Amino acid sequence: HAKREGGGRVVTYHPTMQEAAMASMQARLQLTAAIQNEEFELFYQPLVDMRDWSIFGMEALIRWNHPTRGLLFPGDFIKLAEESGHIVSIGQWVIKRGCRDMAALHAAAGKKLLMSLNVSSKQLDVPTFFSELVEVLEETKIDPTWLQLEITESIFLTDAARVGKLFEDIRALGVQIAFDDFGTGYSSLSYIGKYPIDTLKLDQSFVKNMSKSPINAEIVQFVINIAAAAKMKVTAEGVEEEEQRRQLVSYGCILAQGFLFSKGIPLIEMIELLARREALTPKPVDKPANPG
Ligand code: C2E
Ligand code: MG
Ligand code: MG
Ligand code: MG
Repeated sequence: HAKREGGGRVVTYHPTMQEAAMASMQARLQLTAAIQNEEFELFYQPLVDMRDWSIFGMEALIRWNHPTRGLLFPGDFIKLAEESGHIVSIGQWVIKRGCRDMAALHAAAGKKLLMSLNVSSKQLDVPTFFSELVEVLEETKIDPTWLQLEITESIFLTDAARVGKLFEDIRALGVQIAFDDFGTGYSSLSYIGKYPIDTLKLDQSFVKNMSKSPINAEIVQFVINIAAAAKMKVTAEGVEEEEQRRQLVSYGCILAQGFLFSKGIPLIEMIELLARREALTPKPVDKPANPG
């Protein structure tokens, strides 16, 4: 089919457009099935004290065991899930699963550990978010002070008064709030002090470029200093190299996650790791082999 528009432009319905629509439709149906068939899994990446490599917690990272495509990462499906609305039930599952896993993780470690869960702004927009969180806390009987919700800047695009109230309510439960991917948004700084936030998660792009560009190293120090002044913690993301770890510690940054310590691993592996009761040791990050 072709339709002539004003100005003589011809708009054709190209087969690839139909294919794309079909693929997207199919992906949506697969997301619905994935929720029903429990195809999602939480991997856990250790949160580490960079001074002694001890584990103080973990971030839950969702994976999709797709029936035909294999193990999928969030980059393959979270955006679609947010557009289709599936993120609401997926996110609800993440909170339940993460809180349920806490008991086994704490038992393995012989101590309490921070459980950090990613929450999409689309989830927070749902009016029942808070009451459902309370329900999960009651069901799992976890200590809420060891639970952290990671939110991104996009939440602040919605009603500021409502977000402020919601954050106050969440923190009144004892649950902590972390500002994820800090520094990548348009006006991250303007939210500091305005909302109750416990931790800034410094985006990995800053850590990555720290040694390459002096200005990035300045930005990292700036964020660490701002956080200290506002009595917030900082977690550095994407620490891959010993030099980055050393540099961050010299700036006064203590907490981090990154492939230098460990990537995200399945629950069972995390339990085994914690049960060994040892600090982590350096993990070589995929790099071309050193010649000679
Ligand atoms: P994020 O919350 O910033 O999570 C950190 C991401 O960086 C993870 O990717 C992790 O594997 C990766 N990462 C950690 N250390 C390093 C490192 O040293 N080097 C490099 N190159 N990467 C590192 P992942 O698991 O693919 O997750 C990507 C994003 O998907 C997350 O970014 C988060 O925004 C989102 N996501 C993950 N799980 C969930 C979830 O349960 N719900 C929602 N709504 N979003 C999630
Ligand atoms: Mg995160
Ligand atoms: Mg992050
Ligand atoms: Mg990130």
